[in-house]
Amino acid sequence: MTLLQVENLKKVYADGTAALGGIDFKVEAGEFIAVIGPSGAGKSTLLRCLNQMVGPTSGKVIFQGADTINAGNRKLRQIRREMGMIFQGFNLVERVSVLTNVLHGRLGYMSWRGALGLYSKSDIQEATRLLERVGLGEQIHKRADELSGGQQQRVGIARALAQKPKLILADEPIASLDPAASEVVMNSLYTFCKEDGIACLCNLHQVDMAKKYATRIIGIYKGTKVFDGTPEQLTDEM
Ligand code: ADP
Ligand code: ADP
Repeated sequence: MTLLQVENLKKVYADGTAALGGIDFKVEAGEFIAVIGPSGAGKSTLLRCLNQMVGPTSGKVIFQGADTINAGNRKLRQIRREMGMIFQGFNLVERVSVLTNVLHGRLGYMSWRGALGLYSKSDIQEATRLLERVGLGEQIHKRADELSGGQQQRVGIARALAQKPKLILADEPIASLDPAASEVVMNSLYTFCKEDGIACLCNLHQVDMAKKYATRIIGIYKGTKVFDGTPEQLTDEM
């Protein structure tokens, strides 16, 4: 089933920078795709245009049959719930517990229950279970900023999973981690997406990690798609 369809997507920033020059691709349910390319290629802009954190200049983004570019606020909130985000800088709320961070992901930052901390027993059980899955069962009551970078990113993964997404957008999730932590984080992300049937678009600048974990690689250079194939095909062309 086609989950996401991107057609002739263009982005010109207000200062005239042409970041995307017309990108086309489709994502099937459950695909794990690495988006690779040098710094400045447009990878981050591409991911942000998919959930409208950045407004595309033209083109189409169809997610589960819905036009995301022209979606109203209510529809866009629903679309964003079904597209989990994982960030290079983790974007956790540092001063609250690991568990609370994941509960925010489950209930949404804007919900009254979340804002007031009115979590049900089942919300807490589900968030705890997700943290156990990413290997942080012992850390749930620690403050987020007490954890190492790799652990914080695993909280980021649990938070994304908590919103039960169909697609995860991961923007350079391992760029600030050491090699050992990078492997653990990529392994968690890959495993949980596969187990839960979630598709993933993961921006990476490390080609070796893309080849190791992704089943498909999209290469972006100067705002244009220059490669779309399997890791093996990428080897053939190099
Ligand atoms: P990547 O993620 O591959 O490093 P980006 O999408 O961040 O690439 O950037 C693509 C191009 O768009 C770069 O030339 C970058 O400088 C530019 N760019 C990114 N964000 C903005 C912005 N908010 N305003 C203007 N130009 C931007
Ligand atoms: P920048 O470095 O350009 O400010 P960030 O990566 O920090 O961009 O993210 C931009 C903001 O969007 C952050 O404050 C982040 O918390 C917020 N954000 C988080 N998830 C979403 C989402 N799904 N849709 C829109 N905005 C989000």
